[in-house]
Amino acid sequence: MNLRIGFGYDVHPLIQGRELWLGGVNIPHTKGSLGHSDADVLLHAICDALLGATGLRDIGHHFPDTSPHWKDADSKILLQKTMVLLHEAGWKIGNIDCTLLLEKPKIAPYRDAMIEAIAKAASISSNQISIKATTNEGLGFVGKEEGVAAYAVAIVYS
Ligand code: MG
Repeated sequence: MNLRIGFGYDVHPLIQGRELWLGGVNIPHTKGSLGHSDADVLLHAICDALLGATGLRDIGHHFPDTSPHWKDADSKILLQKTMVLLHEAGWKIGNIDCTLLLEKPKIAPYRDAMIEAIAKAASISSNQISIKATTNEGLGFVGKEEGVAAYAVAIVYS
């Protein structure tokens, strides 16, 4: 079996007047993430982990934020298109593990819905996905609620 690992990281600013999308789920909050698409940091980190594992460059290459086509895009579609690229190159997902960094709100109530949304978009089983979340203990841009960040790793095989 040919086994590869990939790593992804993403950040978006948090501002008032935007919706907060994380892991394909719209989360009620006083702030939302700013970006060209729906600015879903978790899905973007996952896409980059998958693209990195398979040597298919990165999310900015395939879905540039200069393209009007991806303006306000649902990031679940970016993940679906990433999966098309993976499958065309002969790769399958082993598992995805991710960590969200945000101060508020608590993510636990939305965790299962995120896993289901990611599983559906990536056409994998929910038991192949793990989502963890942590605050930044009040430190830095995450701690000051100026932004949200996500890390993801993925194993793929062919
Ligand atoms: Mg992004």
